[in-house]
Amino acid sequence: MNAPASASTVRPDPSASPARQLLAWDLIHKLVSFDTTSRDSNLALIDWVRGYLRGHGVESTLTFNDDQRKANLFATLPAQDGNATDRGIVLSGHTDVVPVDGQPWDTDPFRATIIGDRVHGRGVTDMKSFSATGLAFVPEFLRRGLRRPVHFALSYDEEVGCIGVRRLIEDIVRRGLKPTGCIVGEPTGMQLVVAHKGKKGYRCLVRGHEAHSSLTPLGVNAVQIACEIVTFLTGMARAFRDGGAYDDAYDVPYTTVHTGVIRGGTALNIVPRDCWFDFEFRHLPFDDPDLLLARVKEHAARFLPEMRAVAPDTFIEFDALSTLPGFDTHGDSEIADIGRACNGTHDCGKVSFGTEASLFHNAAIPTIICGPGHIAQAHQPNEWVALDQLAACEAFMRRLADRVCAA
Ligand SMILES: [Zn+2]
Repeated sequence: MNAPASASTVRPDPSASPARQLLAWDLIHKLVSFDTTSRDSNLALIDWVRGYLRGHGVESTLTFNDDQRKANLFATLPAQDGNATDRGIVLSGHTDVVPVDGQPWDTDPFRATIIGDRVHGRGVTDMKSFSATGLAFVPEFLRRGLRRPVHFALSYDEEVGCIGVRRLIEDIVRRGLKPTGCIVGEPTGMQLVVAHKGKKGYRCLVRGHEAHSSLTPLGVNAVQIACEIVTFLTGMARAFRDGGAYDDAYDVPYTTVHTGVIRGGTALNIVPRDCWFDFEFRHLPFDDPDLLLARVKEHAARFLPEMRAVAPDTFIEFDALSTLPGFDTHGDSEIADIGRACNGTHDCGKVSFGTEASLFHNAAIPTIICGPGHIAQAHQPNEWVALDQLAACEAFMRRLADRVCAA
């Protein structure tokens, strides 16, 4: 596919682009240049953005993680009338990216590189380009004056469980800010997304009893019991697939159940003492994950009498690994109207992957998801975003500016 003419707005070509449009590309390039893999500090990027905003007279509030190696940044561009608290629009993005370890990249992942009609680089789609494009509009927002506040929310540790943004949101609530809504720029192909599934992850540990494998009745085989529970989970997954409930607005229109990791046993001639496995529910709003877990626990409990008859210290334990609520704005909030107006369509979608959107939503900040690129291009070697997606993101931001600016 050839790059459409509008894509030239994000190319670094001074003769073809007004200064502000160049800035969008410069900012994408800059943000991608920071290696903000979740395990490492994001402070270099945060410091740079803070300096950029300060250069425009905008101060930022940072909230740190426990060891101070990572920070969220929150900044407010007040309205012309001085209002900095009410009716604002939050532009939200996470700063961290997934690792490139072991992935076959053809370009330097931390250098945004244009090849044909695509930009390659870690984070170009998930999700530095949205944040960069929003930040590129700061000079314009300030020059034209705002009728309502615009807030920037940049978080850490999204990719490892939406951890950082929880502190940023606590800070918003503590300071009494009452934004009208939030736009999370995760890659949706610039489609308006008003709901995503919830996710709950668990680890199940089966503690059995070791014995020589020629004497299996004297042992409790943790691997086999774990597999019985995994099989039960597989049955649940099939039941959802075949019997619903369904919401066809999602790409996968039913609750999914999945076991991702299993470890157990040490040698073939030992009845294994331990086996653990990790599983998750990605649930539609009307399926309650706590009830699903209760069914799994009930099934697991049926093995205990048999296990304890052999060895009383055997057990089956469940620990929560991660929780991300689902959300659904039902498309009837003001922020959804703004989203529709800015991307010029009446369609709203729902997605199966989790984002920070549900955490904003649960803090009484209605939220939509809309960002350039596609989730299928994220987390991959040679992660890329199409230039026309960047142009669409810029067009979205321009329409947003027309709605929020006074002049
Ligand atoms: Zn993301």
